[in-house]
Amino acid sequence: MSDTHADVIVVGGGPAGLSAALFARKNGLDTLLFDTDSTWMHKAHLFNYLGIGSVDGSAFMETARAQVDSFGVERRQGEAVEDVSTADDGFVVETAEDEYTGSYVVLATGAKRDLAESLGCAFDDDVVDVGVTMETSVPNAYATGAMVRVEEWQAVIAAGDGAAAALNVLSKEKGDRYHDFDVPADATAVFGGMADEE
Ligand SMILES: Cc1cc2nc3c(=O)[nH]c(=O)nc-3n(C[C@H](O)[C@H](O)[C@H](O)COP(=O)(O)OP(=O)(O)OC[C@H]3O[C@@H](n4cnc5c(N)ncnc54)[C@H](O)[C@@H]3O)c2cc1C
Repeated sequence: MSDTHADVIVVGGGPAGLSAALFARKNGLDTLLFDTDSTWMHKAHLFNYLGIGSVDGSAFMETARAQVDSFGVERRQGEAVEDVSTADDGFVVETAEDEYTGSYVVLATGAKRDLAESLGCAFDDDVVDVGVTMETSVPNAYATGAMVRVEEWQAVIAAGDGAAAALNVLSKEKGDRYHDFDVPADATAVFGGMADEE
């Protein structure tokens, strides 16, 4: 087994997974993300993502990936997760290449729900059963995006689910009701002025 341990392991790099990874890493948690790039976003064109205007789905993905990379998420593009199981103090995530451990796992595998099922997450109406925190019936395992919804498959909703999961993890790690609020001065002071570049 590799000695790679992350605070948060995210499985899936569509809008839900990338958003979870962004919030987690931006707020100081070591975050490892696996993705196989079969996101529905490559079939979509967004006119309904608030604040974006009109953008091709693949172009959206390119921007979103660059954004999470700029915050230091370790994104393992093309590495498929084959199994997720509970372990002492967290989870073991298995790929064809290696095994990794994480204190929290965020599942964001789109319409594929097999990993949640084998992990033992409760289902309701054929989707993973979560509340507004996105935590599943398995403590510290979260499910987000299309996998938790019978319908309402929208990118902005998936991204919101990922953000909610990460904020709940952050609340557990740093104290109740964690907020990720920035103000305009932060744009120039902290993260290389990324907001100024747009
Ligand atoms: C034709 C079409 C048009 C659409 N148009 C719109 C639109 O106009 N507006 C809108 O908001 N939404 C639209 N959508 C829906 C939108 O694409 C989805 O809501 C969104 O992609 C769901 O995000 P997600 O992160 O939950 O899942 P996905 O985007 O599907 O991402 C899941 C990711 O997980 C990865 N993955 C799965 N299993 C594993 C594994 N074992 N290991 C590693 N990685 C894994 C996949 O490769 C994939 O990249 C459209 C969808 C389609 C099909």
